[in-house]
Amino acid sequence: MNTITVTQLKKMILQAGNKIEENEGMLCELDAAIGDGDHGVSMTRGVRAVRAKIETVDYADLSSLLTDCGRVLMKEIGGTCGPLFATFYLKMVSCVTGKTEVGLTEWAAMLSHGLNGVKTLGKADVGDKTMIDALEPAVRFVDACAKHNDSLQVVLQGAADAAAEGAKQTIDLVARKGRGRYQGDNSSGHQDAGATSVALIFKGFSDAWQSE
Ligand code: ADP
Ligand code: MG
Repeated sequence: MNTITVTQLKKMILQAGNKIEENEGMLCELDAAIGDGDHGVSMTRGVRAVRAKIETVDYADLSSLLTDCGRVLMKEIGGTCGPLFATFYLKMVSCVTGKTEVGLTEWAAMLSHGLNGVKTLGKADVGDKTMIDALEPAVRFVDACAKHNDSLQVVLQGAADAAAEGAKQTIDLVARKGRGRYQGDNSSGHQDAGATSVALIFKGFSDAWQSE
């Protein structure tokens, strides 16, 4: 199987949510170090609402599934990162209008649209110590694999690794966006919470696939 169907994408989104929920406490601790400590609670509220909304719906296509996810996240998460994570899903919608499955090339295009939407909205770039530091390497990895037509299972695993590595690298960075920037140089030495969430989401995407 080398395409992402509606059923598969739903499974990926739900598994990403499980990863966030399992790590709620850790995400709050990371946010407490350089922010206000609410990140795990906000994200968990969002992914629980997404699960409640999508779990039992039989979606006809990918765009209606992604639209529901984005809308629920926008409404439920709040804070700085609610609109950013919502935008990640909502920006993918225009790539998949009417489609019931996508291959690797289209998945790469969807992720790039999502990334660009988050960057435009948040005006952060790689190195600013935000979710972009995990998201951009993961998306770039998928993009590079699409050119070689690698298997989705391998690509999703690699993207999860790239996101985790990107999140780890935020430890040494000084925050230039988000609440962390108020700490100045003291923000260095702590892993960014939003980047960690992105790494967990990509791990969830990958795990959903490995169990196939
Ligand atoms: P808040 O800062 O409103 O409490 P959260 O704690 O839920 O929101 O989310 C904080 C995370 O949001 C940070 O760890 C960072 O990854 C991300 N973030 C903050 N500002 C931006 C931005 N401008 N662009 C991208 N991500 C950002
Ligand atoms: Mg916070």
